[in-house]
Amino acid sequence: MLSRRSLLKHFSSIPLISGFVGGNLLTSLSKSPSVPPIAGDLFKELGLRTFINAAGTYTSMTGSLMPPEVTSAIAYGATEFVNLDELHDKVGERIARLLKCEYATVTSGAFGAMTIGLAGVISGKDSAAVEQIPNLEGLKNEVILQESHNIVYTHALRNVGVDIVTVKTREELENAIGDRTAMLWFLNANTDEGEIKQREFVEVGKKFNVPTFIDCAADVPPVENLFKFTEMGFDLVAFSGGKGIRGPQSAGLLLGKREYIEAARMHTPPRGNNIGRGMKVNKEEVLGMLVALEMYLSKDHEKEWKMWEDQIKLISDSVSAVQGVKTEIHVPKYANHVPSLKVSWSDDIPITPPEVREQLRNGHPSIETVGGRESVNITTWMMTPGLEYTVARRLTEILEEASKS
Ligand SMILES: *Cc1c(COP(=O)(O)O)cnc(C)c1O
Repeated sequence: MLSRRSLLKHFSSIPLISGFVGGNLLTSLSKSPSVPPIAGDLFKELGLRTFINAAGTYTSMTGSLMPPEVTSAIAYGATEFVNLDELHDKVGERIARLLKCEYATVTSGAFGAMTIGLAGVISGKDSAAVEQIPNLEGLKNEVILQESHNIVYTHALRNVGVDIVTVKTREELENAIGDRTAMLWFLNANTDEGEIKQREFVEVGKKFNVPTFIDCAADVPPVENLFKFTEMGFDLVAFSGGKGIRGPQSAGLLLGKREYIEAARMHTPPRGNNIGRGMKVNKEEVLGMLVALEMYLSKDHEKEWKMWEDQIKLISDSVSAVQGVKTEIHVPKYANHVPSLKVSWSDDIPITPPEVREQLRNGHPSIETVGGRESVNITTWMMTPGLEYTVARRLTEILEEASKS
């Protein structure tokens, strides 16, 4: 320990501290002239570009925009204290009633839902096991999935400490199941890439008494998916909050069997000796997620779909007027199931799709699109209605300009 004398000596060598001795430290810090208080148009103040999102629900582009009712719920949540567990209890029961499933909880994204869901399946309600994870000694330590479903997000499962076992056929799946098998995991987005489909997967799980989990992160719309997979018999189902449901980007939903979800909750705050402590969902986001879900359930989905179709057609008609431009309207069967436009063109137009995307990005307003080397791909579901005219005009202008050169 420093002696009083050396402490004083130490302090007086720091200019700011001599200010503190004079009682001015706080005032001088808060009035720091080099960093004026931030206010108003915060993104602009930070020097950030905002943009029209003609791409879709991408994590890097910050997911989706929350409706005002959701941000009101978040602002409201910030005004009062509640007990965190009681809040989760009440909201979990309410979501379960809304989605006609046994139980539910708001999670930190679909990724967080996967981690705490699997952790709950492995630990059950045994608090010693909860505290032991990710050390799986004496616990089940394998998750089986189809090889074509083994995408980056299975890291959420590996976070629990398990090994991933991949299979291709039903026979391989049945043979792989054993004493170490904790869970079977299915990726809805890659349904077509795998031999085993949802119903058969659930059937195998039931036959061997192993819980099944389906990742439906980006599978809303259609709204029916929020009900379909728990009803089909999956023990756990995960959705992202900040994609089609337009809730907080860092929130998500875990739906399914009460025993597993209650066990999953043991891995989350306010408890701390668990792997989910860092996957906290604050009260504001719990409320925001609930309100976003209720708004999503009550909206006119047919009307919204028709609007997206009209917007896509408007952009397609506009750019197709440019000589040599081809458009293709399609709806992905699984994940991001919305009207989508693919724009490509002949070599007569001397500009590449990545160059066009760059020009859209650097224009005013800035527009984000996606696609590889062959096309510019557009969806309108994340756009404020009316902006389809801006996107149509800009894309048409860029292609017209390039054809003249
Ligand atoms: C987006 C996504 C995730 C991650 O979801 P978050 O809500 O961002 O945690 C997981 N799986 C799939 C298939 C996804 O598309």
